[in-house]
Amino acid sequence: MKLEVIPQEYQTALPILKKIEDAGFEAYFVGGSVRDVLLGHAIHDVDIATSAFPAEIKEIFPRTIDVGIEHGTVLVLDEEEQYEITTFRTESTYQDFRRPDHVEFVRSLEEDLKRRDFTINAFALKEDGEIIDLFDGLADLENKVLRAVGNPHERFHEDALRMMRGLRFVSQLGFQLEQETFASIYDNHALLEKISVERINIEFIKLLLGKYRRQGLQMFVETECYSYCPKLRAYGESLLRFAELTDQQINKEVHAWVLLIDQLGLSNKEIRPFMKAWKCSNDSIRTTQAVFMGLQFRKTQAFTKPLLYVLGEEQAILTEELLPYFGLENDITAVKEAYRQLVIHSLQDLAISGHDLLAYFDKKPGKWMKEILTLCEQAVVEQVIPNEKKELLNYAAAAIEKNEC
Ligand code: ATP
Ligand code: MG
Repeated sequence: MKLEVIPQEYQTALPILKKIEDAGFEAYFVGGSVRDVLLGHAIHDVDIATSAFPAEIKEIFPRTIDVGIEHGTVLVLDEEEQYEITTFRTESTYQDFRRPDHVEFVRSLEEDLKRRDFTINAFALKEDGEIIDLFDGLADLENKVLRAVGNPHERFHEDALRMMRGLRFVSQLGFQLEQETFASIYDNHALLEKISVERINIEFIKLLLGKYRRQGLQMFVETECYSYCPKLRAYGESLLRFAELTDQQINKEVHAWVLLIDQLGLSNKEIRPFMKAWKCSNDSIRTTQAVFMGLQFRKTQAFTKPLLYVLGEEQAILTEELLPYFGLENDITAVKEAYRQLVIHSLQDLAISGHDLLAYFDKKPGKWMKEILTLCEQAVVEQVIPNEKKELLNYAAAAIEKNEC
């Protein structure tokens, strides 16, 4: 089969292929971008595979960076663009069901395509638009089937992450797992235990963000892969409920975590250990905690001023965006306006500071200052008192008098 129209992203990269060919080697577009072009989807990364060895690529192109030379990948810098060029390779001596510990550079395209995970990811596209399809990937694409290249049992044994990749492609593309591929994932799901959480995390998030999340989650549960993912073993039922939640696609990672945690019925306190087990960053955990807390409130009532203040604008919007997943209407403009109307947006905006307290009250510096400032902050946010120095000092004096601090 030949592509009628070569997409712009490939057109720009054609001179690179030509240069490699002029030097006497083969070069092709490979991987996810070829699949995406055939599906009519947007391309995000253009990967090039070649029979030239890394040292030979570096001789052809003046500007290169060794990004993964041990795996045969060289980054070629070309005017505005940069391209990952990877030497054809085979992978051998898989230990512990993880990535290969040894890759061998080869001159044969077929060998390179054979090591790829699924037939729809194993196309190569020639410079003239000809699609090389050694494993009937075009038929699978047509029939919306996800099929492992070669013997699925062996392929998942070589690298168990491929099972999670398979599930996320189901979720992204809405394809069915081919019968034997499904059966092999089911049989081998326990091998996921050997895979680093970081790699599983990346695929799991892609699964949750997929357009066909329902199908992806159903397969995640049916193959029992979920039970070898961090802290999910007890939650098969909840994951299926999550699958049924709504068909609306999730498009932000923080939304995925909040919705998942909500579906699992975790408490605020359980969020950190859960996300730590998934090796999420502290930043991502903090945002998830805030948005989860905001959501529990916002599901039943409008934002209050203190909650908007505590969340800040960004997290308040992230919270508001989640309402449609629960069949509730949202109004982002109203949230922005309500936030804008807050009298203060941070402690810096308060008309008094610790300095003012020390100057005004005959007291030694201490914990009382923070307590007074917090009281004043709350009172101003709730518009109990205006944000004026005199008023605030009177308010502080009254609090100190009442022995509140
Ligand atoms: P995406 O669109 O999400 O980037 P992709 O298929 O391009 O999906 P990449 O991780 O970018 O995924 O990998 C590029 C290509 O490398 C894949 O299409 C596949 O051919 C091959 N590949 C990636 N990971 C594996 C793996 N674990 N086992 C076998 N082949 C793989
Ligand atoms: Mg890719």
